[in-house]
Amino acid sequence: MLFALNENNVKIAATPKARGKCPSCGETVIACVGEIIYPYWRHEQKSPSNCVAAQYENEGEWHATWKFLFGKEFAEQYIRQGDKTRRADVRLNNGLVIEIQHSSIDTREIRARERFHHKMIWVFDASGPVAAGRLRYEQGYFHWIKPRISIRNCQVPVFLDVGFGSTFEIHELEIKKILKEDWHTYRTTVFKGTGKLMTRDEFKGKMFFADEALKNASPVSDFKKQYFNIGPSIQLDLF
Ligand SMILES: [Zn+2]
Repeated sequence: MLFALNENNVKIAATPKARGKCPSCGETVIACVGEIIYPYWRHEQKSPSNCVAAQYENEGEWHATWKFLFGKEFAEQYIRQGDKTRRADVRLNNGLVIEIQHSSIDTREIRARERFHHKMIWVFDASGPVAAGRLRYEQGYFHWIKPRISIRNCQVPVFLDVGFGSTFEIHELEIKKILKEDWHTYRTTVFKGTGKLMTRDEFKGKMFFADEALKNASPVSDFKKQYFNIGPSIQLDLF
């Protein structure tokens, strides 16, 4: 949790010895600031009563980089639907949600978030596989050995953070099994796909544009289709 609220309900970042209010449950949160950890807030009470924010207490620098890209106004928003509250990592003016995923996530949770937010896109951290040489990309194409399998179950647009300030928007994804030889021969999964490589700023521009263009997107129809139907010529004007 990067932001708590002060007494005027303004979002504040964690600074040494600060105290604040949890934006979701209203309980007291205390700032955790150290030399190694990225500053964050945690509930004063060790096990806060079912607060959704408690699930997200200790997120690191990677999350912070993406949230600060959009500004604190849009970061960490708590959305209530009926008796359910979920947190959106980033939610723009017209409701487009950007979920930023560093750790592994199972298919059930992917489905649950997509059903809840509907108008959303995913950003997965893929910088590790790039550094390990398992994910290769160039403009228009990528190839990923031993990928994050759960990504294939995403029903909304997916971006990969490939590191070096670049983001890859997946257009088409093909899943293959290949034979690989290291110490021994084994079958492994490979993602092969097409897409668009963009800088973080281009990504940000596109998200604000998509948020505006898709503000009337119907919650019952295929959001991914609507997203990719945004006129390509207008998209190009952005960059
Ligand atoms: Zn709370």
